[in-house]
Amino acid sequence: MQTYIGTKIIRALPMTRQGYNDYRGWQLPADENGDDEGYLVEYVDGGKANDSRHAGYISWSPKAVFDRAYRPVTGMGFGQAIEALKAGRRVARAGWNGKGMWLSLSGPLLGGRLIPSTAFWSKNNAEVLPCITMRVATGEILMGWLASQTDMLADDWCIAECQGAKCGATYGQDHSPECIVEAAETQGWSDAPEAIEAKLTVAVTAFIEEHGISCPETIYQTDRVIENAAQLIEKLADVVGYIQHKEPK
Ligand SMILES: [Zn+2]
Repeated sequence: MQTYIGTKIIRALPMTRQGYNDYRGWQLPADENGDDEGYLVEYVDGGKANDSRHAGYISWSPKAVFDRAYRPVTGMGFGQAIEALKAGRRVARAGWNGKGMWLSLSGPLLGGRLIPSTAFWSKNNAEVLPCITMRVATGEILMGWLASQTDMLADDWCIAECQGAKCGATYGQDHSPECIVEAAETQGWSDAPEAIEAKLTVAVTAFIEEHGISCPETIYQTDRVIENAAQLIEKLADVVGYIQHKEPK
């Protein structure tokens, strides 16, 4: 056998060996101790689901094994924070909370790595290598953040939630449509398919909420819904785009 080292992001719930066997509907093997402490572990980054109640592959891990491998994402070491960055998450030190400060790897989630040529010596747009950027308290982005000795030895690293509109997504979760629209507009990719889809979702969701549409009957029985549908259709057509108008010859 070879030697391996792991850095996984998982979900877990404390559960005894007996509890896990009951949960899966299994018989505890006669030579195993049901009182053993441990965790139900769900792997969220790949692996086929093996239980209809979970999206990822689940298994049971003894407490001692688990505790040596994992710590909550609210108290990570620097190595785990770096792995989280590489997996596309924003991370922050606990002490930065409330100041809106976080780190991210440049451009892995939304948008690209292209920087306008005016910022560089190149005539064309420059392709920038991935680097760690920091959102500082004033809202500006610091390119190429470097860790201090204290940062590297700290155990208070955590995953920062997305600050986008109606979002709060952490890694592995989808950003809210509002967040995607906001990012698309500020980063200049409003015409991308995911931006269009998000804009349509935002427009239709707003219409549904505004008119209290709770089921198909609400649409037919409320005149107001039909009256205002023209405005909705206009918004949707604005997003999707109109056919080219041809002058009659
Ligand atoms: Zn977001």
